[in-house]
Amino acid sequence: MELALEIKNLKKAFGDLLAVNDVSLKIEKGTIFGLLGPNGAGKSTIINIITGVSSRDSGKVNVFSHDVTTDYRNTRSSVGVVPQETISDGYFTVMEIMRFQSGFFGIRDNEKKITEILKRLYMWDYCNKRVEHLSGGMKRRLLIAKALVHDPEFLILDEPTAGVDVQLRHILWDYVRELNKSGTTVLLTTHYIEEASNLCDKVGIMNHGKIVALDTVKGLMEVNEGTDLEDVFLKVTGENVHV
Ligand code: ADP
Ligand code: MG
Repeated sequence: MELALEIKNLKKAFGDLLAVNDVSLKIEKGTIFGLLGPNGAGKSTIINIITGVSSRDSGKVNVFSHDVTTDYRNTRSSVGVVPQETISDGYFTVMEIMRFQSGFFGIRDNEKKITEILKRLYMWDYCNKRVEHLSGGMKRRLLIAKALVHDPEFLILDEPTAGVDVQLRHILWDYVRELNKSGTTVLLTTHYIEEASNLCDKVGIMNHGKIVALDTVKGLMEVNEGTDLEDVFLKVTGENVHV
């Protein structure tokens, strides 16, 4: 069994706050893994550590058996990330952003791939538009497109469907399924528990920096005697129900 991601005893504090408190998880190559949890659970912090945006305090984080810090170049080139925050390079056009991103990964003449991605995300008609003139949904598509220019083996999506319309959610999940079928490993976070339930081979549920449940959707429902994944989610993150 080859692992796309292996995290062991990961810790990260911001002052007194333990944002990630001794998290361990493994993602098998070729699978889709969903990381769920209420706001502030620590999901984005973990993703930021995997992608080198944030440093860890302790613990092991390997991508395809390479340490994300000491072997940053290697791991970064195998990972595509769709960050939670929106895109800021307003003055540039969609095409320019896609070319910059290709250049960042040292890929020249990437027009074929760029065209394929923009068409697949139904944003080809917008390729000469400046980012500042794009709608929120189109900006989100561009973030997804950007993450794919270097054909990453491991795709990480941090709440890619938060606040987007139903149409884009379908476009995105169809694309994610398609990429996964062709071998891409996927780690995603989402607020839509039903989406995770339909898409993911395995799910981890976080609360207060800890993984409180980790299994297949079926396994989680059996162990927690839940009727569906949302029911399990509420059970294992319990206190949030009574606010
Ligand atoms: P999630 O993505 O699950 O909503 P985050 O990983 O963004 O959660 O945040 C986990 C906790 O860490 C939250 O309480 C958040 O306020 C805190 N946090 C995240 N980033 C920082 C930072 N740069 N400085 C201080 N606190 C932070
Ligand atoms: Mg987050």
